[in-house]
Amino acid sequence: MYRIHIMTLFPDVVGDMLCESILGRAQERGYIRVDCWQIRDFTVNKQRQVDDYPYGGGRGAVMQADPLYRCWDHICQEMGERLHTIYLSPAGRTFRQADARRLRDEYSQLILVCGHYEGIDERFIEECVDEEISLGDFVLTGGEIPAMAVADAVCRLVPGVLSDPSCYENESHWNGMLEAPQYSRPEVWHDRAVPPILLSGNHAKVDQWRRKQAIARTRDRRPDLYAQLDLSSKEDRKLLQELEEADHEI
Ligand code: SAM
Repeated sequence: MYRIHIMTLFPDVVGDMLCESILGRAQERGYIRVDCWQIRDFTVNKQRQVDDYPYGGGRGAVMQADPLYRCWDHICQEMGERLHTIYLSPAGRTFRQADARRLRDEYSQLILVCGHYEGIDERFIEECVDEEISLGDFVLTGGEIPAMAVADAVCRLVPGVLSDPSCYENESHWNGMLEAPQYSRPEVWHDRAVPPILLSGNHAKVDQWRRKQAIARTRDRRPDLYAQLDLSSKEDRKLLQELEEADHEI
């Protein structure tokens, strides 16, 4: 079982979200387990206060190191080991599919720390955090949405959570590419027909079409990813030629 511990001021919101749908079923079946820990439960003051003013002045409040440490230490003590700990932070490295895969492969438990207000005391990060992960170059109110995103991305790669590895191995970003467009019933909707090849029943041709579409999408939408692709195989070179010919026809 893969376990994720989320340290947050809003355990109910995070817990409810991760108990729905595919991840909810995976928890029921024992493939994964997500525990949400209320940081306030680890304060030693009557008001259950977790934040205070920032030293040096400035607006807002900073989450104090001590309640965070007590919560973190409690989880590690209960689990009997120091767990790999991630702080969700706009100052972290941007999260990618390769990180989801790495976190699944290298650990069986994670602690995700959600900040709030102006962030958290740096000394907790120095003492307890192994890596900082950002969801992107923008600032959110709290680390809960990024923690849910990381938990979701890692958990769906855990064996048994999805019916088959092909569910994620053919998806965008697994092999550095974007996925081909998808269609479902009906065959014609608002005068838009599904590409006929998808109705042909010829799996080899469908695979070829999907690969070509994936290459074209990656080239058009993500030149940064496209530049990294190895398209030197005979099959890919043929697809590239077809794409070039199609471009000339337009
Ligand atoms: N003062 C901080 C700064 O400028 O870097 C931003 C604090 S933010 C308002 C509050 C919390 O939201 C952070 O402690 C972090 O946990 C979370 N957060 C905000 N944006 C994030 C992002 N892009 N990725 C991951 N976590 C983020």
